[in-house]
Amino acid sequence: MINIVLLGPPGAGKGTQSRILQEKFGLFQLSTGDMLRAEVASGTELGIKAKSIMDAGGLLPDEVMIGMIKDRMSRPEYSSGIIFDGFPRTVPQAEALDHMLMDAGHQLDAVIQLTVDDGILLGRIRKREAESHITRSDDNPDVLIKRLAAYHAQTVQIIPYYQSTNRLFAVDGMQPIEDVAQQVCAIVETFA
Ligand code: AMP
Repeated sequence: MINIVLLGPPGAGKGTQSRILQEKFGLFQLSTGDMLRAEVASGTELGIKAKSIMDAGGLLPDEVMIGMIKDRMSRPEYSSGIIFDGFPRTVPQAEALDHMLMDAGHQLDAVIQLTVDDGILLGRIRKREAESHITRSDDNPDVLIKRLAAYHAQTVQIIPYYQSTNRLFAVDGMQPIEDVAQQVCAIVETFA
């Protein structure tokens, strides 16, 4: 069983790389953003609360996210290994993930950080906006600026946590998708 975290700012290509890893290694992508968007779409109590936080570019409370992951990880389809996409985003979430995996007799093998400059992400979103390719209510330049701020204030704090346990691998996410995929797959290969 291989467990991987894909880490990176919003729009860095975590979803695209997750899908590639899913096909190549038979791992399952677990995207907390997708799970929350499903809650929003079905209009659940959590979805209503989540939508206002997501549209403001903020982060949901740790206990909500940890509970969500715990419930999902226990499902049989995830037994061959998981690609965590969008989780953890804070140090308490990172610690909780290690505990949850340990309790299940597993471990987190690698954290792959996709590095992309903020200016590039903003340029891409402005282009999508100009071409009317925006499909999500939190996918616009104003919200992206707030999501990037949350990433730099909270999520990057998990980097030293993973560095100190030798699990952090950085890949330049500004390269063409196939080159990023090749490097990401080479890292995962060493754990297969
Ligand atoms: P994503 O699709 O991963 O960029 O997530 C979209 C939004 O969902 C984020 O901007 C947050 O508002 C929320 N979200 C997703 N994952 C988490 C998490 N692990 N912790 C807190 N909030 C999250």
